[in-house]
Amino acid sequence: PLRRKPTLDEIVKGVGEGNRVMLSKAITLIESNAPKDFDKAQRVLQGLLPKTGKALRIGITGVPGAGKSTFIEAFGQLLCSMGYKVAVLAVDPTSPLTGGSILGDKTRMQNLSREPNCFIRPTPSGGTLGGVARKSRETMMLCEAAGYDVILVETVGVGQSETTVRNMVDFFMLVVLTGAGDDLQGIKKGIMELADAIVVNKADGENLARATVTQGEYERMVEFIRPATEGWKTHAYKCSALTHDGLPELWAVMRKFEKETKESGVFQKRRKAQLLSWVRGMIDEHLHNLFFNDPMIKGRIPLVEHSVVNGLISPSQAVTELIRCFDMDRAAIKHM
Ligand code: GDP
Repeated sequence: PLRRKPTLDEIVKGVGEGNRVMLSKAITLIESNAPKDFDKAQRVLQGLLPKTGKALRIGITGVPGAGKSTFIEAFGQLLCSMGYKVAVLAVDPTSPLTGGSILGDKTRMQNLSREPNCFIRPTPSGGTLGGVARKSRETMMLCEAAGYDVILVETVGVGQSETTVRNMVDFFMLVVLTGAGDDLQGIKKGIMELADAIVVNKADGENLARATVTQGEYERMVEFIRPATEGWKTHAYKCSALTHDGLPELWAVMRKFEKETKESGVFQKRRKAQLLSWVRGMIDEHLHNLFFNDPMIKGRIPLVEHSVVNGLISPSQAVTELIRCFDMDRAAIKHM
């Protein structure tokens, strides 16, 4: 073991060799909010870029209590037993605020965390969904460079986080419970439209018959929704994260998905579109921050908003006014 801090080259080399300590160090750089770490992190990522992109990326969502953690623990162990290296990540922008369950928590996946071929990283803390998403995407790339074959990204059904995770994975699955009423737990149609598979969990014991009924209900519902992936028919499945029933079958579905979408080119097309939308998203976020953190804008906004609310100027006028201020301030900064 090194006594001194590893150099960036050593981190790049270590991650590329699958060294977990180096992988953790690299992720810590990615997750850091310090500007000096940002450049270091990007240099590490740049060095590893040729080794990224090779894993199958799987997103997993569902309401709290649906059994996501239990599923990931069981599914991850199954994949490890088949000889795959598995990384588990989480995207949960709410946890630092709500103090709710931190997704990807090792204490919730105790057996999986002992697997030498599994790497678990809880959700990066702090910041906007955009910030968390960037960190997760880059962490995912580092894991791929370190030789992980399957990346499982867990998220909870809140706000935009499902769309965000959908945009960073190849295959997206929705974990649901047996029918609680006609509205099927109020699962929004929009979320079903993101899913490549709907999985009724806890299909075991006394719940098995009900799970089968629920599976049928979802199967009928997906008939009416737009498929998430071109050329792929979304189906409902059932499994038990407890008994592991149905898990090998789900893995077979995912491999079939991978094979078919790679053959049709849809897989590669989505990956490219995702890369471009990450770039656009980061530009949006950067400009947004630049604007709202501008001292001149910060000072001006309350006044302008006051004028809008009191009917003195139109919203469009307000925006024009603020953008003009922003432009002037940027120009002034440049000439300082
Ligand atoms: P999450 O909030 O979606 O991550 O859900 P958890 O994985 O924490 O599971 C919530 C509860 O459901 C826990 O008490 C689990 O033991 C239980 N559970 C999860 N999967 C199954 C399953 O397949 N069968 C049964 N019977 N219970 C399960």
